Amino acid sequence: MLYLVPTPIGNLEDMTFRAIRILKESDIILAEDTRTSAPLLKHFGIEKKVFAHHQHNEHKAVAEIIRFLKEGQTISLISDAGTPAISDPGFLLVREAIKEGIEVQCLPGPTAFVPALVSSGLPNDRFCFEGFLPVKKGRQTRLKQLVEEKRTMIFYESPHRLLKTIEEFITYFGAERPASISRELSKLYEETIRGTLAELKLHFENNPIKGEFVFCVAGAE
Ligand code: SAM
Repeated sequence: MLYLVPTPIGNLEDMTFRAIRILKESDIILAEDTRTSAPLLKHFGIEKKVFAHHQHNEHKAVAEIIRFLKEGQTISLISDAGTPAISDPGFLLVREAIKEGIEVQCLPGPTAFVPALVSSGLPNDRFCFEGFLPVKKGRQTRLKQLVEEKRTMIFYESPHRLLKTIEEFITYFGAERPASISRELSKLYEETIRGTLAELKLHFENNPIKGEFVFCVAGAE
């Protein structure tokens, strides 16, 4: 059995009882970064063998993990924060496990885009998750494709690219497009800034850009 176990995106209180139990019952835990996950596992008294499973070894590691799963081991995958395979390693393993007839379960739990979308106040009956935009190659093509998108769009963005991204969104979607930026969700300095893209640009030109960000943009009318 392969479990994908979400872990908190900032606030340890968001760890679920079931996540703790499944991790304690696993034979092996795969972590995106074993050093990042060590304090979390220690905090919840989870003492298990932990192996690294990150984007650099994901392709190579899959075959060996599948072998362990076929032997009947229970393996749990965690990422540094949030739900594994959501802008994090995991997809290749899930796809291969399904192909091999292994049972896969993803526990419900923390992920950054759902609270950002819900607290944005933007329509959420239909939305599209865009994750991180390509940094260079393919970025402008992706943005062009999104100009006609009618659903609310959700992006992950790093602090040092945020302002540039707001400016690009203004170019493609227009300065008056409603949007929302949530930072530090579930943490001490959590805040959600809502307004037009022009208003968000003004805000972040005049305030420090620190922390982790989810960017929601209304779809085209
Ligand atoms: N697997 C994670 C999930 O389920 O949301 C996402 C991992 S991705 C590598 C990290 C990105 O998620 C950050 O750059 C940021 O865009 C977003 N993120 C993660 N934690 C966040 C938080 N506490 N507040 C705002 N955004 C967050």
